[in-house]
Amino acid sequence: SRKFFVGGNWKMNGDKKSLGDLIQTMNGGKVDPNVEVVCGAPSIYLDFVRSKLDAKFGVAAQNCYKVPKGAFTGEISPAMIKDCGVNWVILGHSERRHVFGESDELIGQKTAHALENGLGVIACIGEKLDEREAGITEKVVYAQTKFIADNVKDWSKVVLAYEPVWAIGTGKTASPQQVNIKTEGVAEGSVTGGTCKELGSQKDVDGFLVGGASLKPEFIDIINAKQ
Ligand code: 13P
Repeated sequence: SRKFFVGGNWKMNGDKKSLGDLIQTMNGGKVDPNVEVVCGAPSIYLDFVRSKLDAKFGVAAQNCYKVPKGAFTGEISPAMIKDCGVNWVILGHSERRHVFGESDELIGQKTAHALENGLGVIACIGEKLDEREAGITEKVVYAQTKFIADNVKDWSKVVLAYEPVWAIGTGKTASPQQVNIKTEGVAEGSVTGGTCKELGSQKDVDGFLVGGASLKPEFIDIINAKQ
């Protein structure tokens, strides 16, 4: 099994001042060497974050496009991400799927291109509330996973993050029993400094992808939740 994985997804938050402060806290924090930590930074700050953040932490872009270059205004390529010294990309986040209309097919193509260019991929899947209520959670998550999996040859470069859309940004956390995805079929709400220890000790939880709390000093506690 892989190292415990803690991803932070900063989304469209922060500025050089606040991210610089967070990076200082992270660099100074005591961090379990057995945990792989990757921070998803806004693309305009990738270079800034990579230059400041200690090398023991990975950095991820939050998106990329499916081809190396060309007339695609506003997009960035895996080659550009790597050129900033950044080795990861988050793909298929629910906000990309549902705010920006990305399809399963496009996310599969992006996954293929990112992996071909040597990036690690944090690939996100998860059903919306109406899909859960309609009883089609498995169908939705299966299709999302298949479009990703069909483009993966080497799973050591891929982290699959199950984030049910109804739980994201709620600040609410499901009970530890609910997060045993393989056994219960239900996943977690927001991970916080207060809930991370109990969640991290669940047998089918081998990592977190944290939104809001990854922008706060408590992110260090979440990184160390497995201790
Ligand atoms: P929250 O932790 O803020 O609920 O966000 C989760 C998320 O979307 C991480 O990618």
